[in-house]
Amino acid sequence: MRYVLVLIFFLFSITSFSEPSKNNPRDASHPAACRCRPNQACWPANQEWQSLQQSLTGRLSKPVSPIAACKEDWASQSCQLAIKNIHNPFFNESISGGTQSQGWLNGWDSQVSDYAVEASTTEDVVAAVNFARKHHLKLVIKGTGHDYLGRSNAPDSLLIWTHNMRHTSYDPAFVPNGCHQRPVPAITVGAGTRWLEAYQEATGKHHRYVQGGGCTTVGAAGGFIQGGGFGSFSKKFGTGAGGVLQAELVTANGKVITANPCQHPDIFWAIRGGGGGTFGVVTKVTLKTHALPNYFGIVSGSISANNDESYQKLVQQFLIFFRQQLNNEHWGEQFSFHSNNTIQLTLLFQGLNKKQVEKIWSPLRNWIAKHPDSYTMQMNIEIVPADKMWDDVYLAKHIPTWISNNQSEQASKGEYWWTPNTQEVSKYWYTYQSWWLPLAFFADNHIKQASDTLFQASRHVTVTLHINKGLAGASPDAIRHGRETSINPAVYDAAALAIMGSGNNQVYPQLKNHEVNLQEAKQIVQYTQQAMHLLMKAAPQSGAYVNEADYFQKDWQTVFWGKNYAKLLQIKRKYDPAGVFYCHHCVGSEEWSDDGMCKI
Ligand SMILES: Cc1cc2nc3c(=O)[nH]c(=O)nc-3n(C[C@H](O)[C@H](O)[C@H](O)COP(=O)(O)OP(=O)(O)OC[C@H]3O[C@@H](n4cnc5c(N)ncnc54)[C@H](O)[C@@H]3O)c2cc1C
Repeated sequence: MRYVLVLIFFLFSITSFSEPSKNNPRDASHPAACRCRPNQACWPANQEWQSLQQSLTGRLSKPVSPIAACKEDWASQSCQLAIKNIHNPFFNESISGGTQSQGWLNGWDSQVSDYAVEASTTEDVVAAVNFARKHHLKLVIKGTGHDYLGRSNAPDSLLIWTHNMRHTSYDPAFVPNGCHQRPVPAITVGAGTRWLEAYQEATGKHHRYVQGGGCTTVGAAGGFIQGGGFGSFSKKFGTGAGGVLQAELVTANGKVITANPCQHPDIFWAIRGGGGGTFGVVTKVTLKTHALPNYFGIVSGSISANNDESYQKLVQQFLIFFRQQLNNEHWGEQFSFHSNNTIQLTLLFQGLNKKQVEKIWSPLRNWIAKHPDSYTMQMNIEIVPADKMWDDVYLAKHIPTWISNNQSEQASKGEYWWTPNTQEVSKYWYTYQSWWLPLAFFADNHIKQASDTLFQASRHVTVTLHINKGLAGASPDAIRHGRETSINPAVYDAAALAIMGSGNNQVYPQLKNHEVNLQEAKQIVQYTQQAMHLLMKAAPQSGAYVNEADYFQKDWQTVFWGKNYAKLLQIKRKYDPAGVFYCHHCVGSEEWSDDGMCKI
């Protein structure tokens, strides 16, 4: 009988804990097993939302899907306008319900939060964090919504949207708080600032360079630097994370702290590589600037072989050329191996003039010229004075095909994105995977295996090597400052990051008759897995870049962070013991259910 009573009491306590009634609201001060959903009694009452609203300098809003009109009627004018709008990355960033991708097959679909704190100040962020913690709400942070793995959107959540916290300032002699060190020129950017705005401040106004992202619309204080962050010239200037001098952040207990090497060095280390949305909300960061080189430039083109055998030889020859001539601090961006026996070139360089670039490429061009029956090559070299690299007027005049202007009525002056990024905007991803390829992979004694592997992989899908996303061959400064961060140490052995991604930018999974073609998508995923398997087999001890990785990555803790994971988890537990911040495959997320709602 005693056991029956105990069992009844046990069952009663579970039921009353997981489904609190209005008469018996859950005591918010107790750690909850599950976060609160909108249909539950524990969800804050209207009055409580109103008092949150009143405490803000910004505002509280109900986010709306940018394609809401299409759910009613695809053919309507408002839907057609919405579809046009969501192919403009600046538009997607201008509404709290927007994301840069539509979703990921069997992973996530772009969804809106129940409420958004449209933060204007650090105090707004504090209010939102305190509110979410007090009411056990799922909290999401979004700056630009670029996250491939959907970590900046979630249903049944409160969103902190930092888009309005966009400000930049320059300090010619910055010293981190509490540190005694030589002052350096730096820029400080607010949480919502995009790289275009940071570049226009540092380069356009102050003739300096700041190491940010290739894509102009990626956030300068959010997931990019917190996950590592590679730009076209990272082999010279290092990672985004390595350039952070100081950050202000709001931690899970609602405190505002300033983190740098002299104050809170543990969390300072963690937020430089350990991933966004995990350790707190970064409200501003100060970034090191560098002397501007004279020139930036672009090499574009392609090399095609007329049959498989010639292509195999070409791949090998090109990899040797890459290792000998391009794997250094002058070069960045990418080349890709295609199934039609073509290598596509989209490379950027810094600190070289046209003559020097021509000389660098002459060994490869000579080799190709010796085999006119087997190969055709097209190559263009474009030089941009470094101080004009983010000047839309100059670019529109001199390299107009490279830029797409923000033509919406709300556009601010000077807003553009690089045209090659257009096909990624509002894409629905079938898959997206990355793997670091160590320098040893390209060594003479391995080059045959390397080229065979890449050739075989290219039979399945296009394989792109991003040479600026591996730091083997980088400048000593880039490596030294990189090693002070929590980025996966595999990056220092890597000459390049291999990326394979496929999707469709005309698929809208939430709209009837515009869903994904499942058969086609699954087939592509399978091909990609086969190709990736070949690379992983050839370089098994490596890892993947957390910001550009497979949603379904196995053993993600080690693959994303290597030996740094244990320390990152310790810091997560210290600063956020209750797990206020959660995102998919982020540090500490293994302690939560897949939707981040219930503690396991
Ligand atoms: C078109 C495109 C181009 C890209 N190019 C590059 C590139 O050149 N180099 C590169 O390294 N990566 C690149 N990326 C990947 C990019 O680094 C990641 O998508 C990154 O997560 C974007 O960060 P965000 O803050 O802009 O995006 P968001 O989606 O807003 O945020 C990403 C993550 O950071 C968190 N977060 C955002 N703001 C904050 C904050 N203030 N405090 C704490 N957490 C926050 C979010 O919760 C989420 O987990 C690209 C992505 C896209 C879609």
